[in-house]
Amino acid sequence: MLGNKNFFFRYQNLSELSVRHPNGVGFTKACFAYFYGMFYMVKTPWWLKKMYPSLVWDIPSEEKVLYLTFDDGPHKIFTPLVLSHLQQFNAKATFFCIGKNVGETPSVYSAILQQGHAVGNHTQNHLNGWKTKDDIYIQNIAEASAHIQSGLFRPPYGRITKFQAALLQQRQAGPFVIIMWDVLSGDFDTDLSPERCLQNVMMYAKPGSIIVFHDSAKAFDRMNYALPRVLEHFSNRGFTFKTLSGIPLK
Ligand SMILES: [Zn+2]
Repeated sequence: MLGNKNFFFRYQNLSELSVRHPNGVGFTKACFAYFYGMFYMVKTPWWLKKMYPSLVWDIPSEEKVLYLTFDDGPHKIFTPLVLSHLQQFNAKATFFCIGKNVGETPSVYSAILQQGHAVGNHTQNHLNGWKTKDDIYIQNIAEASAHIQSGLFRPPYGRITKFQAALLQQRQAGPFVIIMWDVLSGDFDTDLSPERCLQNVMMYAKPGSIIVFHDSAKAFDRMNYALPRVLEHFSNRGFTFKTLSGIPLK
């Protein structure tokens, strides 16, 4: 792992940042833990946003708007349930689809679009950018583009190198806007209670936040508990839920 050029690149950046940060030691440890995938952060910290300024982490706004996103679908059972929760609150969202799943459930994919939601590319086979050669990664995303007509891309696991990101942002077939997030619900974490998943969003969502859920079997119990409560809580406080379509390239 130490010999990997991507790791070295990230390590250099972390060193520079940690020198400047007042809590240098703790900060570096947190970075290492993050980059080795030992834990995930519910609220994306300022320093991670600064390290990748060309990626979209939130849409700063005075307006009470939230951007719900659903990754890893479409799924023939769970995606329609998400759609019905959203419909009850007239909420719009963005679905980062896996190309393979779109190929297997085209009618569910069509239903997402018919109901006024946006879609984004999440690769053809849910590849981890850090573990995939650049040409294979880009090719896999192009394959997914045959199923998913969208200029939005979210890297699976949030793992993409700066070089891969630059290739996607400059590609001739039309540049991708790369969408990350501000708040992770943690619905994918099978050790998390549904109540805690709900609290994660309640505590950290603010106007302009991009929030991650999953329309997948693994996340269903937590997502299905948290989502309707998030929709109700924020709707009652004057928030609206919009898609990420039309977000400009950074
Ligand atoms: Zn994913």
